[in-house]
Amino acid sequence: MNVTHVFCPEPHVRTEGEDSRHVPEAKAGQAATLIRNVANLNDQKLHKELARAGLPHFETVEDCRKRQIRDNALMEAAGSIPSQLLHALRREECEDFDALPFDSGASHLAKRLYRAECILSATPLIEAAGQAHLLTAIDSTMRRPVGKLHTVSPARILRRIKDCLRQTSQNARAICGVEACFDLGADDNKFWAPHVHCVVAGINAAELRDSMRDAFAHSEVYRPTMVQPITLGEVARTIGYCTKRGDILRPEYTAKNGRKQRRKQRLRSHLQAEFASWTAEYRPKDFVALVGFKRNGHYLVTT
Ligand SMILES: [Zn+2]
Repeated sequence: MNVTHVFCPEPHVRTEGEDSRHVPEAKAGQAATLIRNVANLNDQKLHKELARAGLPHFETVEDCRKRQIRDNALMEAAGSIPSQLLHALRREECEDFDALPFDSGASHLAKRLYRAECILSATPLIEAAGQAHLLTAIDSTMRRPVGKLHTVSPARILRRIKDCLRQTSQNARAICGVEACFDLGADDNKFWAPHVHCVVAGINAAELRDSMRDAFAHSEVYRPTMVQPITLGEVARTIGYCTKRGDILRPEYTAKNGRKQRRKQRLRSHLQAEFASWTAEYRPKDFVALVGFKRNGHYLVTT
């Protein structure tokens, strides 16, 4: 199974048939995990924790700053962002890591911290729930032309997936993230393609495949859902993949074998501005859904 021609290229996920280590059932003591207050960790410690979890090359503050400067300039030029919000985001172009980021979906630093929190908190709960799978689902009714991404509601996309996972199994545990890449077809067909990546545990692969196939049967996409096993050591990295800021351009091309494939490129300026403005309407957590566990004070607990 090859994800690259249908969905976002990263990360490497074991395909069917490759070794996937079985993870033992949850122990009682693993039912809750402390939400790491990543905002209070210094950056060196944050990177150390993430490296220990399997992400040695997590995005840096400097990466975020560079992207923030670019996004702010693009949104300002497009006139697509309220000046007050832009002013708050401008602070993140220059302030130290110690300054808490503004909790906007358009803030790269806020998104980074939220991702780190998801990775460090959810990984033990997912690992304790048995074999995990990466689920990718794309609903063609969510496609939008240029200029219309703002009409997509991340909550609506996430609700569909959450309902479906809960109906499939009471033991389902998942962390799901919404992205919107821009698909550029060889036949000049172009549109935003919002989709979801989830790390799911507590449901066996066959059940997960069947229920998703039914739920997305209406989606006019070649292979609207995909389910792939994740090895134990890859859970944290795959949660990082699901919660990343998914804003890429995917032009279609014909590969040597004659199949239509998509490559990953940076979004063009006007699309980058549109994507950033869309995220500015939400908070980082609005792009992520938890199933089977929830926040309870400083803990993530199973429900
Ligand atoms: Zn994606």
